[in-house]
Amino acid sequence: MSNLKPSIWVYGDYRNYFQNRVTLQLLAHAKDLAPKIEADVCAVVFGYQVDEYVGEYIAHGAVKVYVVDDKSLTSYCTETHVNLMERLVCAHHPEIILVGATDFGRELSPRLAKRLRTGLTADCIGLNINDDGLLIQTAPAFGGNLLAETVTPVTKPQMATVRPGTFQELPHDYEAQGDILHIAMPPDLPRPKVRMINCKRLPQRRQRLEEAKIVVCGGRGMGSKVKFKKLFELAQLLDAEVGATRPVVYSKWIGHDALVGQAGKHINPQILFSFGTSGAIQHTAAIHDAELIIAVNKNPDATMMKMADVAIVADANQVCSALIRELKARIRE
Ligand SMILES: Cc1cc2nc3c(=O)[nH]c(=O)nc-3n(C[C@H](O)[C@H](O)[C@H](O)COP(=O)(O)OP(=O)(O)OC[C@H]3O[C@@H](n4cnc5c(N)ncnc54)[C@H](O)[C@@H]3O)c2cc1C
Repeated sequence: MSNLKPSIWVYGDYRNYFQNRVTLQLLAHAKDLAPKIEADVCAVVFGYQVDEYVGEYIAHGAVKVYVVDDKSLTSYCTETHVNLMERLVCAHHPEIILVGATDFGRELSPRLAKRLRTGLTADCIGLNINDDGLLIQTAPAFGGNLLAETVTPVTKPQMATVRPGTFQELPHDYEAQGDILHIAMPPDLPRPKVRMINCKRLPQRRQRLEEAKIVVCGGRGMGSKVKFKKLFELAQLLDAEVGATRPVVYSKWIGHDALVGQAGKHINPQILFSFGTSGAIQHTAAIHDAELIIAVNKNPDATMMKMADVAIVADANQVCSALIRELKARIRE
């Protein structure tokens, strides 16, 4: 091994503000864990002209940053990032690798774990170190009904992806110092089989779903894509964001970024309107922090109705339309 001191690596996922926040949250928690195994906290950054992130990661807890800065890394490519990570890991043998459970992180981590023939716990909501110095990886299991604690006792590195928002990032430390290790792009890295032809940003939401004070969430009970669209009008009037259940996302009534639940976003609004959702555990696991839930469902026995603070037994479309009319009338007054 080239590194005598153990290290905890955090993969630098920085391509948008949201991803970068997760990386900073992981650095903060890695800093808490590091003394328990006398480890260094390191970040790994691949990209082009990434100095800004290198500095930010040092200011948020990394004492060392491994950087591959190359024009060929301008756009993200899973294969290339996996190849680079594999080489770095084999050269430096980190004890632990933490990755944000973003779309990129979820794509990269299982591939890397397979290459390294090690374990990976996905979507962790807690990480600690046990008496044997092993990483305890806590993640929901069986549809969120149980929390499973997993350790990887035999193989290294121990790997986990962690849900955004699980940990708090540290304040920016302007005095922080760290080592920066620039690594040249290996010339013999396999060429990726996938090539990016074009990249287009999705229209921006007014605010992030996870941070919205009011969320209007629609389920299959909205009936159709056309009817579901009413929720956007309602959301605009309420200065709210629109979320959805899995059948709605799978039917393409709205994009995947609106998915609320175990496989999507966790939300904590002050008010959650829930239209035509049954309240499956995979969905409700992500709405427990909502302060007030107003549910509309034809079926009074639906789980969502039982969970709601205000349960309206009615047709979801009719209630949505009535609310829109009422709000518009108030604006006109
Ligand atoms: C591994 C796994 C992960 C999953 N992850 C997620 C996840 O992250 N998020 C998620 O949402 N789901 C997830 N699911 C799916 C989940 O189990 C449910 O199938 C899903 O949440 C149900 O969506 P729904 O409530 O829109 O639809 P349904 O369960 O079909 O419920 C529709 C509701 O609408 C009501 N309704 C019908 N017509 C009307 C009307 N006109 N007016 C009012 N009410 C009406 C019905 O009474 C019913 O209660 C996951 C499932 C699995 C197996």
